[in-house]
Amino acid sequence: MFDEIVGQIRKLHKKEQGFIPLHAPVFKGNEKKYVAETIDSTFVSSVGEFVVQFEKMMKEITGARHAIAIVNGTCALHLALLLAGVEKEEEVITQTLTFVATANAIAHANAHPHFVDVDKDTLGLSPSKLNEHLEKIAEIRNGKCYNKITGRRIAACVPMHTFGLPLRIDEVVEVCNRFFIPVVEDSTESIGSYYKGKHTGTFGKLGTFSFNGNKTITCGAGGAIITDDDAIGKKAKHLSTTAKIPHAWAFEHDEVAYNYRMPNLNAALACAQLEQLDAFVQDKRALANDYKKSFASLPITMVTEIADAKANYWLCCLLLKDRSEKDAFLAFSNEKQVMTRPAWQLMHRLPMYNKCFHGNLDNSEWLEERIVNIPSSVRI
Ligand SMILES: *Cc1c(COP(=O)(O)O)cnc(C)c1O
Repeated sequence: MFDEIVGQIRKLHKKEQGFIPLHAPVFKGNEKKYVAETIDSTFVSSVGEFVVQFEKMMKEITGARHAIAIVNGTCALHLALLLAGVEKEEEVITQTLTFVATANAIAHANAHPHFVDVDKDTLGLSPSKLNEHLEKIAEIRNGKCYNKITGRRIAACVPMHTFGLPLRIDEVVEVCNRFFIPVVEDSTESIGSYYKGKHTGTFGKLGTFSFNGNKTITCGAGGAIITDDDAIGKKAKHLSTTAKIPHAWAFEHDEVAYNYRMPNLNAALACAQLEQLDAFVQDKRALANDYKKSFASLPITMVTEIADAKANYWLCCLLLKDRSEKDAFLAFSNEKQVMTRPAWQLMHRLPMYNKCFHGNLDNSEWLEERIVNIPSSVRI
């Protein structure tokens, strides 16, 4: 069976031999032109017209009222948590099945990650398990949610749309609203993914994106925050630009803030890539569909979007039978120069987060034993 899977991957990528990466960027649009323009203009740093253009494009693509360009996805998450009102020593609920940056951003806000399980079909935060967990451990006092066991306030919830597959975000928001917990969507993997016709990242109070080298579109390093809240949108820009009060020459700053603004050089690359987003997502969805058809007769599962979701299929994901089959397939495919990867180590098993509070994590643990990502680059 392993031979057959690897053969299908090679066939769909039209590459009979040689190395096939997991996800390689494609630069076939206006990338060189726009980057050269920033160099010619000398505006390579955080002031420039591509930064403005990038924010405009992000608003158009997501439908959010505000989009703020940020240096990377981790900083976007960190700032979004602060803007959602997370304070020192408070707790932030997130998935244990996520990339480490989600938990790191919580730690950067001096808060404690608190892990809740995912659904097996979406790989994203489970609204039913979240509800069940909160019913057990949460207590509402003065319109705020507290963890009865640790005594700390639960200040935010960060669901993550894993591999670009939309989770049941409307239900997660509904549960969080009942418990007075603001939602910050980690939509870093899901640019171009929609749920019930709305772009991911627009369901929570804030949404965050990443344009790192391995994501669906890239600008080297980059990120964004989106929100419909005017005051939060304004504050996001202010805090990401050292809280400088606009003035023709004076240096006045009104609070401790950050140098988190995306440089114009990166924004130029981001604009050129965003112009191709629709074509990229179309190709990735076609690849996912082809994979699904080619593996239909094999005893493996390909994780696909749920009803009402339109995934960007950033990384296509297979579920193998068990841990030993997964490990054997990883060894086999990588040896054959077809790059495949397991799920991230679960957050509650990492040394810096293994003492964090968590609920039942059965689905995450079951998935971690079986997940394999297969080559998912755009083939244009
Ligand atoms: C990529 C990613 C991030 C962080 O983005 P960077 O731009 O690399 O800082 C955060 N969370 C998740 C789930 C990611 O996949």
